[in-house]
Amino acid sequence: MKPFAYGKPATTAEAVRAVAAEPSAMFLAGGTNLVDHLKLGVAQPDRLVDITGLMSTEIREDDGELVIDAGVRNSDLAADRRVRERYPVLAEALLSGASPQLRNMATVGGNPLQRTRCVYFQDVTTPCNKRSPGSGCSAIGGYTRHHAILGASDQCVATHPSDMAVAMTMLDARVHVIGPSGERTLPFAELHRLPGDHPERDTTLEHGELITDITLPATSWSRRSTYRKVRDRASYAFALVSVAVGLSISDETIEDLRIAFGGVAHKPWRAKRAEEVLRGTRPSEDVFRAAADAELADAQALDGLDGGNAFKIPLAARTLAAVLRDLTAEERDR
Ligand SMILES: Cc1cc2nc3c(=O)[nH]c(=O)nc-3n(C[C@H](O)[C@H](O)[C@H](O)COP(=O)(O)OP(=O)(O)OC[C@H]3O[C@@H](n4cnc5c(N)ncnc54)[C@H](O)[C@@H]3O)c2cc1C
Ligand code: SF4
Repeated sequence: MKPFAYGKPATTAEAVRAVAAEPSAMFLAGGTNLVDHLKLGVAQPDRLVDITGLMSTEIREDDGELVIDAGVRNSDLAADRRVRERYPVLAEALLSGASPQLRNMATVGGNPLQRTRCVYFQDVTTPCNKRSPGSGCSAIGGYTRHHAILGASDQCVATHPSDMAVAMTMLDARVHVIGPSGERTLPFAELHRLPGDHPERDTTLEHGELITDITLPATSWSRRSTYRKVRDRASYAFALVSVAVGLSISDETIEDLRIAFGGVAHKPWRAKRAEEVLRGTRPSEDVFRAAADAELADAQALDGLDGGNAFKIPLAARTLAAVLRDLTAEERDR
């Protein structure tokens, strides 16, 4: 591991200044992703700015919305009564991730900023444009089972790994950051980016910007929401495909809804085309299939040494239909 300086500032402003002052400096939260990357040589910061103990761990109400501070641990967020009642999709997404021990360490600020689980990204002996810009992409023509079917580029085909981020995207959450240029708020759906020509950049955050909290809006569709994750093992595995859906029904018609996919793209994939097909319709297998077809019309499978990932396209369609079937049946049974 490369030697680095370490500091534990007393205020968020000091933490921001410390990271912004050095191009390679990084914030350290729960460390469950970053410490692994230090050991593997994937991350080589000259300075770590420890924000544990600095970030608030409060979950609070604000005018009907729920504000979650960045220091809240994933396990505490999943257990919060307000989250379980009003945003079940978020509790389910959190509980589908990692292990209890990891969730006890992982934070709300660090979870969406964890980096891809592409095996080549984590292996510093292989070319990888995300880790080392311009070196090439070993995944293209390599092992692609966990890679993207939507929004990939010829520079990178990696997927984003966070389950929580898929739920947050679907919930229309807002992210608050403080950085060298001051404070700002951005829609959670704009936090992550597609790879394009700069796969080394996972997010739209500037260097030194610190996530302070995330707001969940009060909505008509978040109470009737769920997260389904399809993976190679029943637990302790990243998603091949995941689906987050929330909807409201009135007069047996889907009044409003939100959908996001995980495991299919470089960012949590908000499925607006599918939403458009479904909004205002009576739930049926035909309309579920039409929604999935509309969303996945541009999906592109990758060939690979492991047989490629074409299976993900029908898997995503079937998982979406299954979730819609369950959620709308629940509504009819109420
Ligand atoms: C074996 C294993 C299995 C896992 N399985 C899953 C899974 O199935 N699903 C899943 O979603 N996750 C999974 N994870 C990932 C885990 O959830 C993340 O590592 C964790 O959520 C990251 O949070 P952290 O607080 O530990 O972040 P850290 O590791 O401390 O930091 C991660 C990144 O975020 C930055 N950062 C942290 N906090 C802030 C902030 N407030 N503002 C700005 N930047 C910040 C850091 O600089 C770093 O770049 C798994 C991890 C392991 C080790
Ligand atoms: S898919 Fe992206 S992260 Fe994986 S090897 Fe290619 S460039 Fe690197």
